Amino acid sequence: MTIYEIIRRKRDGNELKAEELGFFIQGFVAGDVTDYQMSAFLMATFFVGMTRGETEALVRTMLASGEIVDTSSLDGPKVDKHSTGGVGDKLSFIVAPIAAAEGILIPMISGRGLGHTGGTLDKLESIPGFRTAFSPDEFRGLVEQVGMAVVSQSAEMVPADRKMYALRDVTATVECIPLIVGSILSKKLAAGLDALVLDVKVGRGAFMSSPEEGQELGRCLVDTAGRLGLQATAVLTSMDAPLGRAIGNALEMIESVEVLKGRGPEDVRDTSIELAAHMIHLGGLSNDVAEARKRAVAALDSGRALEVFTRFIVAQGGDPAFIDTPSVLPSAPVVREAMAPAEGHVDSIDALEIGLTSVELGAGRLTTTSRIDPAVGIELLVSVGDRVEVGRPVARIHASSDPSALSAIARVVAAIQIADEPPAPRGRILGTISQNG
Ligand code: URA
Repeated sequence: MTIYEIIRRKRDGNELKAEELGFFIQGFVAGDVTDYQMSAFLMATFFVGMTRGETEALVRTMLASGEIVDTSSLDGPKVDKHSTGGVGDKLSFIVAPIAAAEGILIPMISGRGLGHTGGTLDKLESIPGFRTAFSPDEFRGLVEQVGMAVVSQSAEMVPADRKMYALRDVTATVECIPLIVGSILSKKLAAGLDALVLDVKVGRGAFMSSPEEGQELGRCLVDTAGRLGLQATAVLTSMDAPLGRAIGNALEMIESVEVLKGRGPEDVRDTSIELAAHMIHLGGLSNDVAEARKRAVAALDSGRALEVFTRFIVAQGGDPAFIDTPSVLPSAPVVREAMAPAEGHVDSIDALEIGLTSVELGAGRLTTTSRIDPAVGIELLVSVGDRVEVGRPVARIHASSDPSALSAIARVVAAIQIADEPPAPRGRILGTISQNG
């Protein structure tokens, strides 16, 4: 068995054996498989796919690249939520504090921006002092102390995902079901969870654009988790338009705090409550999802979720001043408005185009060594269905320079479609997939 043969066998459509996948992935983590060989393997997998058996073997070998955090001493249900990736998706910052306020323990290993989607870790690192690198012991200690922690993959925790994730981000190999399943489930199993709620995004700005692909990804995640002994539910949510109005790292932290304070966009609030309710229910703390929803609303509206969020920021070294004074977060030197070119109602906002524009502004990476700019991004001033007038602002662009702002303005204006009549209302929640059908 050689590295070359494994790449060739995958390229030619063969089903790889668990030993071959193990040899290849372990070799990559050890530095014996180069980035260009892994890139070729990722692209071959993108085109050829993997069987369910290969996908399960991929999760197992990625998981085995590091240690599994021993959470057995933590007293309470350990449940996490993970999104398959969206634009303006800041739900973790609201969902996790709500669930933690209700008694769920959340050891969350997260990722950075992937393709045109933003990353949980990048957003958190826009907070001065905030740290995401912790040892497994420190990670467990944070969960014990606060009820939740959000950390990165590391040399000790899922190093295979850390390295593969960074390469997928810049080689256009993200939108591939087995690679997404390997990446998500290896991280979640390494965190020593009892159960997992998956937010499977579907639509223009998701990695799965059609409902059929979304169903397939959700089913593969839930079934593979089940075969690996992890209880899981997938909630399919719409990602045709960005979630909320803020897209960009610091901008999304500010919007998350707004929602935790009982303000902020309704779609962010409603989707957060739904996901938190599934966590509370899967954790065995309610009789049904309806009861869990009521508990989630109470945790948010009473301010208990905001209290957990504040303790979480402080515990991980962040300066909590931004919670009351958003201006302490990095801000862009150039802020320009984008104007509506026509009058009517907002018919759609293309989440993919908004996400790509945000990456071009500097909020995401174009190469593995790109530095992201925490301050830049897009603030939408309208939502789908809103009435707009010619020459009135529809978005605010936060940029590092004037040319960058001008290019973003043109793209954002083109991404907002205006029609004479308002579109039929479309909810974010599209359905759920559970292990028992
Ligand atoms: N989130 C992950 O952690 N990995 C993916 O591949 C996609 C979303």
